[in-house]
Amino acid sequence: MPGRRVSMIGLMLSVIVAVQNAGAGELVVSSAFEGGSAEVVEIDQAKRSIQIRPAGDPQFGWPCWWYFQVSGVQPGETISVTVDASQLKQANGQKLASNWALPERAAFSTDQKYWLQTSAGVKADDTCLWTMKVDAEQAWFAWGPPFVPADAKQLVDRLSREHADVTAFELCKTRAGRVVPALVVGQSGSDADSRMVIWVQARQHAWESGGSWVGRGFIEWAVSDEPQAVALRKIADIYFVPIMDIDNVATGNGGKNQVPHDHNRDWSETPEWNSVKMAMRFIKELERQNRLVLFVDLHNPGSNSPRPFFYVSPPELATKKRKQLQDAFIAACRLEMKTPLKLDQSTPSTGPGYDQRWKEISSNWVRSATREYVVGITLETCWNTPHSNPAGYMAVGQQLGRGIARYLEQDPRSSPAPD
Ligand SMILES: [Zn+2]
Repeated sequence: MPGRRVSMIGLMLSVIVAVQNAGAGELVVSSAFEGGSAEVVEIDQAKRSIQIRPAGDPQFGWPCWWYFQVSGVQPGETISVTVDASQLKQANGQKLASNWALPERAAFSTDQKYWLQTSAGVKADDTCLWTMKVDAEQAWFAWGPPFVPADAKQLVDRLSREHADVTAFELCKTRAGRVVPALVVGQSGSDADSRMVIWVQARQHAWESGGSWVGRGFIEWAVSDEPQAVALRKIADIYFVPIMDIDNVATGNGGKNQVPHDHNRDWSETPEWNSVKMAMRFIKELERQNRLVLFVDLHNPGSNSPRPFFYVSPPELATKKRKQLQDAFIAACRLEMKTPLKLDQSTPSTGPGYDQRWKEISSNWVRSATREYVVGITLETCWNTPHSNPAGYMAVGQQLGRGIARYLEQDPRSSPAPD
C-alpha cells in the first residue's frame, strides 16, 4: 500500500512543520502595564517587524519615553523594532527633536527584571530600527531600563526589611492618589539630633529612568558593609526618594515641561506637586535643625552627553564659601567616578539664562533657602552610551556614594571660612 505510506509520511511532515511553527504566533504588542507607552503603527507578521510611536500626551511632558511588550515570539527568532519619533510634539505644539526618543541602543528584557541593551540601531530620518534575537516567547523593549513605581516600592520595602537602620515611609500621595515611596537611613543615638543629613532624589522628570537606577546604586551602596558606607552612616542620615513624579512614570508620560510646569520648576512658595511640597517641608525642617549638608537631584541629560556631569550653582547663588564647598564635593566625586562612566570636566550652571523659572529649579531653591555650607547640586548621568544600562548607572550611584563619604570626612558645618 505505497499510497498510504506516502500519506503517512506527509502527515508526519505536516505534524513536524506544525510543531516547528507552534511558537511563532502572531506578534502582539501591548503597553497596558505600569510605565508602558506605545502606539502601534504597523506589525508585519511575515517580516517579524514592529513599528511604534511613543504614546505620551504632551500635556504630561515631552513624549520621548516608550516601553512595550511583544508576545507571540518563537524563541530564537529575530525581531525588528522601529520607533517613529517624527511626530513628537511639546505641549505648546512645537516639534520635539526626535533624538530625545531614539537612543542608539534600546533597553531589552525577557522578564522585565534584567535589562540589557540591544546593539546599535540604524537611524533614518526621525526613526531608529533595532534588531534583536529573542530567546523567549515574549520580550520587552524600552527607551531605557524602566524603573516604575512598583520598583520604587519594592526597593524601599526590601531595604527596610534587610537593614535595621532603614525606615521606609510615604513621602506623600500624588494628585492622582498614588503613593510616593521614600526611605530614610538613620541610626539612633545621642547625636541623632545633630547628625548631618543628605537628601538624594530622582525622577523629577519621569522619562529619565536612569536617575532612579543611579539612585538605586547609591542607596544600596549606602546601606552596604563597605567601610566607607559604614563610616558615612555613623555621621549622616540619608533621605532617598527613588521617583518624585510617580504619576507620569506610572502612566508612561515624559513629565519634562508638563503643564503648567514640571517638578523641577516647582520649588516655589506655592508648589503644584505634592512630592515637591513635602520634600521642601522636610528640607526646611532639616535646615532649621542645622543638619542638612547636601542635596543631590538625579537626572538624565540630552542625547549628546557622553559622560556624567554636575550642574553647579549659577554665580547669582554662589557665595565664596558655597562655591568652595561645591568644588570640594565635585573633586571628591571626581576621584571616584572614573569607570565605566567618567565624570566630565564641564560644570554648566542653571542660571537666569538657562530657564525663566531658574529659581524654581530644586537645587537652586536649596541654594537660596539654606545656609551656605549646604551643597545643592544636580547630577546628570548620560543615557546614550553602551554603559547606560542598570550596571553602568548603578556603578555611577555607588561612586557618588563614595564621593559623598570622602567629602563628608570633614563636617562642612565646621569648615573654616574661605581665604
Ligand atoms: Zn531632567
